[in-house]
Formats: sequence, structure tokens, C-alpha cells
Amino acid sequence: RAKQLGRNTLQHHDGAGTSVGMPLGEHEELHLAITGDQLFLEYQPQVDVATGRITGIEALVRWNHPAKGRVPPINFIPLAEETGLIVPLGLWVLNEACRQARAWQDTGVAPLTIAVNVSAKQFADPDFASHVAEALERHGLQSHWLELEVTESVVMQDAERALAMMASLRALGVRLSIDDFGSGYSSLAALKTFPFDRLKMDRSLVEALPGDKTAVAIVSAVISLAQTLKLSVLAEGVETDAQMHFLRHARCEEAQGYRFSRPVSPEEILRLLQTQLR
Ligand code: C2E
Ligand code: CA
Ligand code: CA
Ligand code: CA
Repeated sequence: RAKQLGRNTLQHHDGAGTSVGMPLGEHEELHLAITGDQLFLEYQPQVDVATGRITGIEALVRWNHPAKGRVPPINFIPLAEETGLIVPLGLWVLNEACRQARAWQDTGVAPLTIAVNVSAKQFADPDFASHVAEALERHGLQSHWLELEVTESVVMQDAERALAMMASLRALGVRLSIDDFGSGYSSLAALKTFPFDRLKMDRSLVEALPGDKTAVAIVSAVISLAQTLKLSVLAEGVETDAQMHFLRHARCEEAQGYRFSRPVSPEEILRLLQTQLR
């Protein structure tokens, strides 16, 4: 019987019906992951389309599960959102990303923006702005190097509250981007209502470039819309030279995708930063 007790069991759990030696529920597993060193971040470069230089880095969370190995975020972020665990998880991500951004800066490479994904429950937490301020303070990172990525659904849920939160974050000097723009049922309303600094064009729009005439029309229109609204614009999921060529001609400012790099370790990011032309 003792053999059945893998590492993935809770030995002394006194609550919620999980007794000694029983396999953990997903919720407990995720809780353990957050408190127990099983999460880590990978980082994906964002590049200037005109020069190819790295201008920013997006932090992406990963879970190294003791039994299942690497679990992609699509398989645990929704659970974290449902259970509210996204709040402590997101706080860990925020602090770790700020710590890492500062560590890169301390090596003497040119400073760059660190982008962190923020979910609805985090954004709705009245303490969120002070958590952001604390993370910046703790790691000695200037606020303008931090960018928070939110999707339209995050701000549209409770527009008044979201506007107030955005005002607090902007007062700190943090930048805000609208993520996955052009995916699903997203509309133009969020752009009209909320003070974003940057627009991230969803991979589904970029994917069909440059062959698909409709995609070409939509991407071109989004780029000019962003220019008119004074938002910087980044294309997500850029995988090919042909897409890159199109984006350069369409005057898209920045791009992110496998064409440049997959999400990688902090050491690999440092290597990329050190080898790029100064
Ligand atoms: P996202 O914020 O839209 O992040 C971009 C996703 O696209 C990442 O997937 C990235 O690995 C992937 N990607 C980047 N370039 C390419 C490309 O050229 N081709 C393709 N096919 N994919 C590309 P990942 O890391 O699996 O993350 C998935 C989603 O999970 C993210 O989508 C985001 O919504 C969520 N997520 C990740 N980390 C966090 C986090 O720390 N907090 C929160 N709240 N959500 C997170
Ligand atoms: Ca994102
Ligand atoms: Ca995205
Ligand atoms: Ca996405």
C-alpha cells in the first residue's frame, strides 16, 4: 500500500475530504504547485519589425507537474480562474517576471519591456494595483518597463471597475495592452472605452497572411486603426518570412512568434540579448 503513495499525494491533509494517502484533486494539486516550486516562467521575445531588435519579452507560465511533467497553461489557467487560484498564481508570475526583468537589466544589457498576462479575477481584485506597485518596488524595476496584457473580456466584464483599475495602473506608470485583439467575438468597443497603450493582434489574423485577401484587408485595417488611435501594434504568432515581409510593408511596428523564437528560458533570452547587434 505504501508503494501507491506517490509524490503526488497529500500526506497530512485535514480538510475538504482528502484523507491521508488519497490522490489529490486537481484543485489541491494546483494549490501545491503554486506554493511548492512547481511553476516556472518561459519568455518569448517581441521584436521591432523594421530592425529585428528585441524590444520586449512576454512571460508565459508553465507547470512542471511531479507526475505528468510539463502541463501547458491551457490545461490549468482555466481551472485557476474558476477556483480563484489565479490570484496567488498571478501574483507569483508578476513577482517572478519583475525579478527576472531586473536580473537581465543588472547584467548590463539594454533594458526592455516585460509583459505579463493578467486574468479577469486578478484585474477585479481591488488590491491588484497595490500588488503591482509592491512587485515593482521589491525588485527595483521602473514601472515603464512593465506591461500588463489583458484581453477584451477582462475589461468588458465590469467596465466601470476596469476603468478605475486602469487609471490606478496608469498612474503607477505601467503600460497596458489589449491581448488577442481580433479573436473570437472581440469588437471595437474596448478600444473606444479603455485607455490602452498597445494592441496585440491575435495569431488567428496573422496566420492567413499573406495569401488570404480577407486577412490582408483586416490586418491592414487594424494597423491603421491602431495608428489613428495612437496605439503601438504588435502581430502575434508570426511564423514565416512571408508574414514578416507583409507586416514590414504594412508598417506593423512589432512582432512576436516562432519566426523569431519560441518561449525559452531566461538564460536563452540573455544569450539572445547579448548576441544581437548593438
Ligand atoms: P497568449 O497570452 O496569447 O500567449 C501567446 C501564446 O501563443 C503562448 O502560448 C505562446 O507560446 C504561443 N505562441 C507564440 N508564438 C507562436 C507562434 O508563432 N505560433 C504558435 N502556434 N503559437 C505561438 P502558451 O505559452 O501555451 O500560453 C497560452 C495562453 O495561456 C496565453 O495566451 C495566455 O492566455 C495564457 N497564459 C500563459 N501564461 C499566463 C500567465 O502567467 N497568466 C495568465 N493569466 N495567463 C497566462
Ligand atoms: Ca499574452
Ligand atoms: Ca495573445
Ligand atoms: Ca491567446
